[in-house]
Formats: sequence, structure tokens, C-alpha cells
Amino acid sequence: MRVTALAGGIGGARFLRGVLAALPDADVTVIGNTGDDITLHGLRICPDLDTVMYTLGGGISAERGWGREDESFVVAEELAAYGVGPAWFGLGDRDLATHLVRTEMLDAGYPLSDVVRALCERWQPGVRLLPMTDDRVETHVVITDDDGQRAVHFQEWWLRLRAAVPAQAIVPLRAETAKPAPGVLDAIGEADVVLLPPSNPVVSIGTILAVPGIREAVRETAAPVVGVSPIIGGTAVRGMADACLTAIGVETSAQAVGVHYGGRGRAAVPPAAAGGGSQAGLLDGWLVDTVDAGAAVPGATVLARPLLMTDLEATVAIVRAALEVAGV
Ligand code: GDP
Ligand code: CA
Repeated sequence: MRVTALAGGIGGARFLRGVLAALPDADVTVIGNTGDDITLHGLRICPDLDTVMYTLGGGISAERGWGREDESFVVAEELAAYGVGPAWFGLGDRDLATHLVRTEMLDAGYPLSDVVRALCERWQPGVRLLPMTDDRVETHVVITDDDGQRAVHFQEWWLRLRAAVPAQAIVPLRAETAKPAPGVLDAIGEADVVLLPPSNPVVSIGTILAVPGIREAVRETAAPVVGVSPIIGGTAVRGMADACLTAIGVETSAQAVGVHYGGRGRAAVPPAAAGGGSQAGLLDGWLVDTVDAGAAVPGATVLARPLLMTDLEATVAIVRAALEVAGV
């Protein structure tokens, strides 16, 4: 079976671990978010791609959920001693090697997708990991603070400001001219099932869908498309996804996120009646937690199951439920 999933960082990676355990023989392609990417100290850093690669490759810090296990931060301490920031971005020593290799390859002219493939040769994540695009797209957030209205890099808003300053807009810069990376559109079009893990609907899945052609490919694929809600009982399980949803005018609820993605209406509802808004028409199935049973998404089948990825077994059960709704 060919499975294609869109993924952000921690939520996506944990779900994908369940996909691999539930379907050990499947051919899994992951389309990763690169909108969180940032250049620091001259190094190109791709946090979401690395989180997927380290998690599936067995190198992730179990405690933090990002970065490397057995990590030290000597270089970061030395930079701080020079007064060189930013202090809010955790750059571990082991992790630095990944950024050095990536930056060296990018500077030599390799596209990001080739770099990811090279890095994955070491980590063997068990999936084909593709960046959403080889072009540079960076999410910026418009805020107003003591310095007035300005746009900051997503990482500054998320890590330094903890998303506590309201976002007036969240903009995936240069997404409109980006091209999907090689293999991305085919992976969606030729899949047997397309999965939207419980990744951030705005700055992870939303950013991937903002690359022209990707949203259309999901909408048009012959494969069933099933999403898993990252919102349980009106709150993001982890992180500040509510601040992102508020910024785009979507309520923090499992139902509202499902409606935001929109039902495809292939079963019962004609497409014109399904969803609404710019992301209408992506989902055949939507998984919500049992506390959100009763949520309805026009044009999609909604199934309520426990959605906390507390351990691998619980995550596998979520994946099986998603496959059940997909009918594959
Ligand atoms: P990030 O890039 O590291 O922020 O990770 P993602 O975008 O892939 O996923 C973040 C989202 O995962 C958060 O908004 C959470 O709502 C969601 N999440 C985290 N843990 C769980 C869980 O156990 N169950 C569900 N349903 N969602 C989760
Ligand atoms: Ca992320």
C-alpha cells in the first residue's frame, strides 16, 4: 500500500511512527513542512524535517520531542558567552553537525530534496521524506509590540514570544511562487491513501497546502484523504496551535478545524455544499477524539476515537482508525 502523509514536526512525527508500526510493509512518503526553516549563524536549519528524520530514525530526544538524544549545548554556551544570540533557539552540538552538512550541500548547489535524501541515508527513517518545496519559503508573523507593528520570523514568535503576542497575520513568505519538490505531486496523486496527521493546521499543514499545486493535488487525488484532529476538547494537546487558529479566524475545536479543511463531499454531499473557505474540499474522513464526538464536517465522515498519542500502541490504534475511515 502506498501511503502519503503531510507532516509538521512533533505531532506529525509521532503519528508517522504509528503509521510505520501499523503498516510495516507500506510504501510511505512524507511531505514535510519547510516554512519553519531559519538561517542562524550562517546555518540553514529545517526543524520539522529534522524532527521527522530523527524521530523515525531513532535519534530524537524522547524527553524534549525535538533535537537529539544525548545532546550537549557547549557551542550554544560559547555563543552566549560572546553575547551572540538568539538564546531562544536551542542548537545542540550533535544537531549542529546536521545543519553543517545541510548548509555545505546547499551552498554547493544541491536542492534541499537531495540534501534530505543524503541526510536520511544515515538515519534510515523508513519513509521517503520529501520537503514540500526546494524553494525557500519562510513563515513570518505580523505582530504589534513595543517596537510597533512588524513581521517576525515564525520561530521568534513561537519560541521567544511563546505565541503570547497575538498574530495579526501569519504569512508563508514566497509560498505563492514556490514549486512542489520533485515527487510531491505524484506521491499525492498515486497514493492509495493520503493522511493529514494531527500537525498544526496553520503553520504545518496550512503552509504545505500553500505551495501552489499541493492543495489541488490533495483535492483531486483518487485516494481517500483522512485527517486527524490536533485539537482535543477545545485545546491543542501540546504547543500553541490555538494562537495560530485564532490568527486565521478559526475556532480552536476539532469540528472547526475539520470544517476549515473541508469535506470533499464525495460520499453524500455535493462538492458545492461542502466546507467553505479556501481550504474547502480536502477530507473524506476526519478523526476526532471521543470527547469531541458529535462534531460534524459537511462532506466528510467523522469518526470519534481516543486521539492522545500517549504511546506507540495508542498511536497505532489512531492510524488503524484513520485507515478504517479511508476504507483501505
Ligand atoms: P510541530 O511542528 O513540532 O509544532 O509539530 P506538528 O505541527 O506536527 O504538530 C503539532 C500539533 O500536534 C499540536 O498543535 C498538537 O495539537 C498536536 N498534538 C500533539 N500531541 C498530540 C496527541 O497526542 N494527539 C493529537 N490528536 N494531537 C497532538
Ligand atoms: Ca513546526
